[in-house]
Amino acid sequence: MNTVTLRFYAELGDLLDPGFRGRTFEHHFWGQAQAKDLIESLGVPHTEVELLLVDGQPAPFTRVLTGGEHLSVYPHFRTLDVSGTTRITENILARPPVRFAADAHLGKLARYLRMAGFDTLWDRSLAEEELALRADEEDRMLLTRDRGLLKRVLVARGSYVHTQDPEDQLAEVIDRFRLENCLQPFSRCMHCNVPVIPVPKEEVSDRLPPEVRKHCQAFTRCPACNRIYWQGTHHEHMERLLCRIRKEPPVPTGLG
Ligand SMILES: [Zn+2]
Repeated sequence: MNTVTLRFYAELGDLLDPGFRGRTFEHHFWGQAQAKDLIESLGVPHTEVELLLVDGQPAPFTRVLTGGEHLSVYPHFRTLDVSGTTRITENILARPPVRFAADAHLGKLARYLRMAGFDTLWDRSLAEEELALRADEEDRMLLTRDRGLLKRVLVARGSYVHTQDPEDQLAEVIDRFRLENCLQPFSRCMHCNVPVIPVPKEEVSDRLPPEVRKHCQAFTRCPACNRIYWQGTHHEHMERLLCRIRKEPPVPTGLG
């Protein structure tokens, strides 16, 4: 039996068994182990790791461990400059994603991201393998709470979503990738992920509820599903959510 000592830093601790958080611990294995397999066996997908130090030296995921080593495992850095050090993966925070893919369980988050203007693939008919492939082909950041999905070798750009509430998840994603200034609210259909287009009121007038016809002047239409959007109750809720994310006081909105 061989033994390594490990320490996982910052939010990587959330992915470990509680007893291993915030401290150095020992891990035992037979024979040899590849760093990627060993780290993932403890619950941390490779996509979450930016830097691995083995005995204080940067090491790749393919590093074979034979026992006696000490591993320091770091998440993606936002503020710490490690440009002189060999990263194990691309810093996902250095090139913020403009497109996302959300797994089947994150439908609400996907709609919120679209509402905020981000191109977000969400299609529950896709198998995990297809989703990972599409995300890779289309250079999308894959968002999931499924660590098994992130451990797949073909997931190049993926990110574990820590929170469970969809509004918190939107805030988490925008905060992690510093997208506060990239929001284009209400520019995209929440159902189809297609950019909406402005449409004159007279063109849609016969499709509007009387109250809306009376009070609203600006409308957009989704060219895919033909839904009409206007500033209504739903819009206000979203505005409040976006203000919270931008850490701004809520903008008073309302019909008329
Ligand atoms: Zn649509």
